[in-house]
Amino acid sequence: MTAPKISFVSLGCPKALVDSERIITQLRAEGYELSKSHDGADAVIVNTCGFLDSAKAESLDAIGKALKENGKVIVTGCMGAEPGEILAAHPQVAAITGPQAYESVMNAVHQAVPPVRNSFLDLVPDHGIKLTPKHYAYLKISEGCNNRCTFCIIPKLRGDLVSRPVDEVLREGEKLIKAGVKEVLVISQDTSAYGLDLAYAERPWQDRTIRTKFVDLARELGSLGAWVRLHYVYPYPHVDDVIPLMAEGLVLPYLDIPFQHASPKVLKAMKRPGNQEKTLDRIRAWRDVCPDLAIRSTFIVGFPGETDEDFELLLDWIKEAKLERVGAFQYEPVKGAVSNDLGLPQVPADVKQHRYDRFMATQQAISAAKLKSKVGKRIKVIIDEPGPTVSKGRSQWDAPEIDGAVHVGSRRPLRAGDIVTVKVERADAYDLFGMAV
Ligand code: SF4
Repeated sequence: MTAPKISFVSLGCPKALVDSERIITQLRAEGYELSKSHDGADAVIVNTCGFLDSAKAESLDAIGKALKENGKVIVTGCMGAEPGEILAAHPQVAAITGPQAYESVMNAVHQAVPPVRNSFLDLVPDHGIKLTPKHYAYLKISEGCNNRCTFCIIPKLRGDLVSRPVDEVLREGEKLIKAGVKEVLVISQDTSAYGLDLAYAERPWQDRTIRTKFVDLARELGSLGAWVRLHYVYPYPHVDDVIPLMAEGLVLPYLDIPFQHASPKVLKAMKRPGNQEKTLDRIRAWRDVCPDLAIRSTFIVGFPGETDEDFELLLDWIKEAKLERVGAFQYEPVKGAVSNDLGLPQVPADVKQHRYDRFMATQQAISAAKLKSKVGKRIKVIIDEPGPTVSKGRSQWDAPEIDGAVHVGSRRPLRAGDIVTVKVERADAYDLFGMAV
């Protein structure tokens, strides 16, 4: 009997990708096969993103396409928390479930396409199915968020912080590394808050006891022998404790901290966690401890009530902070976000665009200068896409998909996941170019 086939569309952030991986692992465990196209499948699952209106539109488009090409469509993910909007656009969808509702998704799949029991198909690799290339994997350490940033609806969609016990996370990390993963990307909504909901519970790990806490997790994960990269860290005081681990080489010297703004007034209106006046001093202190540190961040321009003065303050701040990697968004009034009801004036679209352009131009010059300073140095690079003469990889300062690349010339063949030493010969605004030594 042939196995039922499911086509899967995964939209949204790395956190959604982890959800997709879990659902796919479950599908494979139950004997379903994945189909490359909608029309050859028995049903389609669309894992949606509902963070920004543009992401919602992309999700609705994907649902429409799946309905046209297949007809049997199960919707899950962030947008599934608000079924009204999906049903208004696509009343024909077979089922809608919310984020992390793995069981409900599977129930919907069982209804749409009953599983076929087959002991051979029931086999699934111990480490699950990963949508990311084999040499790197995302490791989700918690769900939800206790913060209430006014522009964000994630806590509404995903609820309050629920951390996974530290030994469970470490066991998953260990399995991934045993299965060939060379780089583990730690993700959550708020990585530095990890364990708060469990009162930093102590758990047995190997021959000792460790706390379900950000620093303990980083240290232990870093000891497992793979690159460990920390995403979505907020500048709480205890972040200072992980910087020495980076200086020691246990954890990659990379901090993904979404600062979002620099004006105290705007940060207050955003209700950002870890909002401190002395952030620049702290960045300086971190760099004193770990001079190699790369900081990646995102910013919102045009938040309601942002004045010219606030924006100039932000520009001065990024010139001073000299962050390595920066992304920016123009504020979007996401439906259901508190920021729409703060009674603050909206920034006109042309002003937002102008500020965004100035912000990006300023940052581009900073990033380019930072990259240029690497020319002539020898750096470690992990290979993502091997090529016959030139392979594409990333340095310790580049996360997959969001940061730049290193183009590596080599006289010997390289494989995905190889970590090689590269002499940097050239830099442009985003990427480095060099030879493997
Ligand atoms: S920290 Fe703020 S932006 Fe991030 S998920 Fe929580 S509420 Fe949203």
